[in-house]
Amino acid sequence: MADPAPPASPPAGYTVTMTTSNPTQTPEKTPTQFSTSVATRFSPLSSSGEAAGTGSPIPPFSTPPAPSGRPIPHFGTPPPGSAGSPIPHFSTPPGPPVFSSPLRPAAVPFRASPASPQPVPFSSGSSLPTSSPPFANGSTDVLTQISAGVDDSTFESPYVLFSAHKVLKNRKLANISSLGFGALVSPGRDIASGPQIVEREPHRCQNCGAYANLYCQVLLASGQWQCAICNKLNSSDGEYIAPSLEAVRQWPELSSSVIDYIRTGNKHPGFVPVSDSRTSAPVFLVIDECLDEGHLQHLQGSLHAFVDSLPATTRIGVITYGRTVSVYDFSEESAASADVLPGDRSPTQEFLKALIYGTGIYLSPVHISRPVAHTIFSSLRPYGLRLPEASRDRCLGTAVEVALAIIRGPSAEMSRGIVKRPGGNCRILVCAAGPNTYGPGSVPHSFNHPNYPYMEKTAIKFMEHLGHEAHRHNTVVDILCAGTCPIRVPVLQPLAKCSGGVLVLHDDFGEAFGVNLQRASSREAGSHGLLEIRCSDDILLTQVIGPGEEAPSDAHETFKNDSSTCIQMLSVEETQSFALSMETKGDIKSSHVFFQFAVRYSTIFQAELSRVITIRLPTVDSLSAYLGSIQEDVVSVLVAKRTLLHAKDASDAVDMRLTVDERLKDIAMKFGSQMPKSKLYQFPKELSLLPENLFHLRRGPLLGSILGHEDERSILRNIFLNASFDLSLRMLAPRCLMHRDGGNFEELPAYDLAMQSDTAIVLDHGTDVFIWLGAELAAQEGRSAAALAACKTLAEELTEQRFPAPRILSFKEGSSQARYLVSRMIPAHRDPPYEQEARFPQLRSLTPDQRTRLKSSFLHFDDPSFCEWMRSLKLVPPEPR
Ligand SMILES: [Zn+2]
Repeated sequence: MADPAPPASPPAGYTVTMTTSNPTQTPEKTPTQFSTSVATRFSPLSSSGEAAGTGSPIPPFSTPPAPSGRPIPHFGTPPPGSAGSPIPHFSTPPGPPVFSSPLRPAAVPFRASPASPQPVPFSSGSSLPTSSPPFANGSTDVLTQISAGVDDSTFESPYVLFSAHKVLKNRKLANISSLGFGALVSPGRDIASGPQIVEREPHRCQNCGAYANLYCQVLLASGQWQCAICNKLNSSDGEYIAPSLEAVRQWPELSSSVIDYIRTGNKHPGFVPVSDSRTSAPVFLVIDECLDEGHLQHLQGSLHAFVDSLPATTRIGVITYGRTVSVYDFSEESAASADVLPGDRSPTQEFLKALIYGTGIYLSPVHISRPVAHTIFSSLRPYGLRLPEASRDRCLGTAVEVALAIIRGPSAEMSRGIVKRPGGNCRILVCAAGPNTYGPGSVPHSFNHPNYPYMEKTAIKFMEHLGHEAHRHNTVVDILCAGTCPIRVPVLQPLAKCSGGVLVLHDDFGEAFGVNLQRASSREAGSHGLLEIRCSDDILLTQVIGPGEEAPSDAHETFKNDSSTCIQMLSVEETQSFALSMETKGDIKSSHVFFQFAVRYSTIFQAELSRVITIRLPTVDSLSAYLGSIQEDVVSVLVAKRTLLHAKDASDAVDMRLTVDERLKDIAMKFGSQMPKSKLYQFPKELSLLPENLFHLRRGPLLGSILGHEDERSILRNIFLNASFDLSLRMLAPRCLMHRDGGNFEELPAYDLAMQSDTAIVLDHGTDVFIWLGAELAAQEGRSAAALAACKTLAEELTEQRFPAPRILSFKEGSSQARYLVSRMIPAHRDPPYEQEARFPQLRSLTPDQRTRLKSSFLHFDDPSFCEWMRSLKLVPPEPR
């Protein structure tokens, strides 16, 4: 660590765009290439009407930083814009609505053994020709399609959401890039009724590496199976020999679309009980000591609460940094004492040795160290010099280096009896109020420094290296920032990103910050994650966006003709997702195409898990059948991620807004219809939610100009690019709930018409939740207190498991903060009444007097309404549902 060599090539900046390549790919399957070139910029007004990020050639593999964490409670209510009638997101009959499982129950590592019946292969005493030679020819042994009768609704996997449930056979139509075909994959998702668990090695195709699955064909007499991806015949070592179709389907992997293969290893037979979970992965707090009094008080409150929230067996360490690094020693049980290192350079080997082999205890279980930790936090003092926040020396980089050295050093093992190597990820939680301005990875205090650009570049390289180094030692670095001092996001983001952590910005060190400290430390994370994607030969994976990078070729087994795309996951968390874009290589002849996703990782329970998800989709000739199978919210999220990928800075964001317009026009021209005797195009009715979602994208915090600082937008963008479907959708289009007397809520489209003065509304925008109290309601003391309490409870319920925890703000109509809400609602107050009623039917329940007052409550501003925007694009606004 003393003299870190910067990594070879990744470019400066926090989004690396790469492409997959696989040396073993067949020539016609090679267009996805990993390259570190920066994503091709698209002209937003290209004449072809092709939208950005989807034209060809697409720079395929793109890694946005920092995964985002927790599961989102989803209440199965309709998305905004659906006029309050509960429309399930996924309407195929037999399956439950996907991604709408309620709050996750307390962590149960794996389903108990009854859920994983061990199939008993037929004994050799049976009447079957078990002695048949391997690879017998098929003359007496017929390939049996074991998926016969399998309902294709099984593709409704909670782990993989496709943009459509059917694939177009016609290549030209299928590859129209403004709409695109793709999927969101959340391989680490934790489902209450999780997959079947199998404690043995999987059968894999010796040719392409695919796993045996329910779409294989099996020779019942010999037990051989034919790969669904490459059609090669494989041996099962006789295991799949069975008297009948029903019998062979006793094998879980031959009957279920998701299987977890578990290897617990010799050292840890069985599963580690839940109560022992996370005990061995330490948490290191790295705390900025350059805070002013007010901020410090908030921070101290959050830190005290944090330590009280930790399980007794969690090991904790505390480091503070300013111009120096103080490492707190827990060996004195009643006093806070610290070793101090200079902050201007990386710690020397000698110093680290003294630290690691000395008598100090720097990581100690909470049940022993809690009193000392409280003493340490209470003893923190406000910044003493008279320097503005941005000019203070903060050696954040050195502090993280020291924390990392202690985590991996032997002293970690010697602390108070716990000697186990951590199974899951260790965590470093940085609490920062400003940028890294001192020592390794620092930038000058002022942008006006003559050498700023060069020093920033060097700092970014250092931070990338430090993040990779942390990842190598299974340590995730989360950076939780607060306050008003610009933190220089481009420099800090790579540290979080490369380690698999997140960078989150808060207004202050108060409530939301405290909640995020706790959620960051307790969110589950596996390590050593590897995601392999295999598809039918007809399908080409063109782009991957998500918290990972190209896996080195030695990270995974290779097979003769393995055409998989392999992604190294930076951490495995249940609500991160990968956004995949796919194309078809030619007109498809077969009736189905197959997709297999295999994720391998070490769980926090120290087991090796391989989760194999196999899905097949039917192919269709009919465009209307294809459009009818489209999942609008999934398409919206995929389109938004592809767009945001290119919105690296403020000027890109402006370009991308125009790109959204072009994309919509193209979709209407290619999939919609022209109105008779008119130049207007009708948007396809199957996609009627998409324009409204994209209108929110254009105006909202991700792409619009409503945030105060580009840093904020950049952080949200990074969270969004890695987020799960639920959080992504919420960040894209806010959800509006109106309070009703009695504590009930009515879901309404997120239109400004909801801002009715005698009501209260809750607007959930993913990373922000706003509670708005109408002025008339606020004037009635008792009623407004009850409404506010109900709204707060709802806001907390909606976001209970969300990571990052959102900022929750409440304010009254007419206050200065109310603009936060106004700017995120679709302005519809200027639309003609018939149009308002069609899109916002709740208006009909208002008295004429109430409607008059509502109308007069709006300030006039120039933002076009949704309908005006659509017409400006020469599109007919889609009929509301
Ligand atoms: Zn194969």
